[in-house]
Amino acid sequence: MSQLRAAAVAAGGLRRSSPRAAPPARRSRKGASLRKAPASAPPYSRHLFSDPAEIEVLRGDLLAWYDRCKRDLPWRTRAATEPDADRRAYAVWVSEIMLQQTQVATVIDYYNRWMQKWPTLQALAQASLEEVNELWAGLGYYSRGKRLQEAAKKVVSELAGRMPRTAEDLQKLLPGVGRYTAGAIASISYGQATGVVDGNVIRVLCRLRCIGADSSSPAVIDRLWDMANALVDRNRPGDFNQALMELGATVCVPKAPLCGECPVKQHCRARLRKLLGKPTPVPDVEDCGAGGCPLCPPAAEPWDSSLGVTNFPRKAAKKQARVARAATCVLERRGCHRAPEYLIVQRPSSGLLAGLWEFPSLPQAQDLQEEKQREALAEHLQAWIGQPVVAGDLQLIGEVVHIFSHIHQTYVVYSLSLDGDVTLDPASSPSRWVTEEEFHASAVSTAMKKVLGA
Ligand code: SF4
Repeated sequence: MSQLRAAAVAAGGLRRSSPRAAPPARRSRKGASLRKAPASAPPYSRHLFSDPAEIEVLRGDLLAWYDRCKRDLPWRTRAATEPDADRRAYAVWVSEIMLQQTQVATVIDYYNRWMQKWPTLQALAQASLEEVNELWAGLGYYSRGKRLQEAAKKVVSELAGRMPRTAEDLQKLLPGVGRYTAGAIASISYGQATGVVDGNVIRVLCRLRCIGADSSSPAVIDRLWDMANALVDRNRPGDFNQALMELGATVCVPKAPLCGECPVKQHCRARLRKLLGKPTPVPDVEDCGAGGCPLCPPAAEPWDSSLGVTNFPRKAAKKQARVARAATCVLERRGCHRAPEYLIVQRPSSGLLAGLWEFPSLPQAQDLQEEKQREALAEHLQAWIGQPVVAGDLQLIGEVVHIFSHIHQTYVVYSLSLDGDVTLDPASSPSRWVTEEEFHASAVSTAMKKVLGA
């Protein structure tokens, strides 16, 4: 059998030559069945894993690779060595929340500091939100830390300190824990045989099964969950889920996947399609319901051979980030020993960057003239420090751009040095003077650190 044909057979990619004949299903070298989907199967069934023998082989290949190649990460060590189920689940939970939208390399230091400061749920439940925000500062998506702490308080006060023991209960009982996080905690901490679907898993599964419909659509996501639950290894669910995510993070990466090194390449239909240089026999229009398949690429966006396996997954165009502008002022006074101190004020307790500290800032219309901007900012500062501020004294430093998840934010940065002591009005929202060192240790966003460095 040629290499190409072997790959096609292993990926379930070649049909029998005569559709009328019905001999017993043939098996590939590793046991993958080539049986056609039964007539009663849904139109998208050719995109799924339906052969138990193939699933078994894939599990074995993936787990063997994971055992050889997995990265050494602190949360994995804790999950593998912590004998107490509640502590183990807490350690996994913290890592999963931190890893949402954030790179592993960034998370490691935050995770280690967090677990050192709050090694248990009980310790976290006793922390103040200010402490949580301070440790989280720079990690982004700040509501994650707040929700984690709220949920820890709930476990301690309402569940007697005992973490829910199933994915279903974790999702139902813990604020901020969605389907993915619940599945990850339950499979890794308790060994529950439940799958997970995150961005890495979406990419791997869409490539393995040539799923080219919008991967963010509920119809596709539902099928991917079905697939993840069918694939997950019954004996090592936590390792299997981590292996699938690890594969997406290190091998089946978005732009230049390392297909040659991939442990599941023989199951991959996107790779097969690339090797053949033309549409594979499976899945095709005929098998997928005469063009009505909800998992196939839309007819208007056919396979692009220059993209190879990166034809998958496909997503609907991202919503454009909202453009926002704010004037902000680094207000400085001379403190003890004439060292500079800066005024920071606290943001409201809900909404973007809730509870974090920042330099006094004022949202601005996009087209506001500089003169008007100065006047408005001077008035805003006056309300904070309780003494007149002359608009002309504000020194324009420049602009700082920061991209939040869905906001393209520009800060127009001014500075102003004050002579003498300035007493803050305790009636206004929290505000304080800080040295540069204190500023960096405070719960301030990365954007504000950029402003100070402007
Ligand atoms: Fe991803 Fe390539 Fe492996 Fe397919 S063969 S799963 S595209 S890395």
